[in-house]
Amino acid sequence: MQQDAKAFLAKHAQSVDGFISASISYQDSLANIKLANLSSKIKVFVGVHPFNVLQENFDAAAFSSLLKNKQVIGIGECGLDKRYARKAQLTLLKAQLELAIALNKCVCIHLYGMHQDLISLLKYYNSSLKLIIHDFIGSLELMQIYSKYNLKFSLSPRGLKSKKLAQAISICPIDKLLIESDNDGRYDYDSSYLYQLSNFISQVKGYDCSKIIHDNTQQIILGEW
Ligand SMILES: [Zn+2]
Repeated sequence: MQQDAKAFLAKHAQSVDGFISASISYQDSLANIKLANLSSKIKVFVGVHPFNVLQENFDAAAFSSLLKNKQVIGIGECGLDKRYARKAQLTLLKAQLELAIALNKCVCIHLYGMHQDLISLLKYYNSSLKLIIHDFIGSLELMQIYSKYNLKFSLSPRGLKSKKLAQAISICPIDKLLIESDNDGRYDYDSSYLYQLSNFISQVKGYDCSKIIHDNTQQIILGEW
């Protein structure tokens, strides 16, 4: 992993302002923190993904100590995924949201279905949460609900050309939009996707939003949200 990361950095560090490496388990969080030692451009989210809901509990004290590292900027990926056990996921997610509130950190949310459960949590915790829904591809109707909360929406290459997403973006305040590569190593990283996403948002909004989108995303990378 470290070798792959070194090659990746050598190739892309010049053209990209920063990278966020999100985690899926405690062990993965430790590995990501080690990775961040390679470059100050690498920032880390630590957390337990819903994929691991049956294998792993969330040890708030252990994660709290990881969050003291200055390159660790938030909690995630955690979230809700309809393919996994609902009740256990809600327990796992709440533990992570509560730590985020206690430490005033933002949270990177993986969301697949289960919108009603997320909306209930947003109502329950109200404005104390700072959430980023990553790889967001929701509808206009969902955006109408979500945009009332302290949420940001991160668009990935999967959303390019989606008419449904274009409608949702059209009513989303520009300061809530982020872009990401969502690269998990299964395909070659291509930084042109970020430009394509920025162009996609600009087309929908009807003006050049690239600087705003860049600054929004940079705010997260710098841990300033
Ligand atoms: Zn995800």
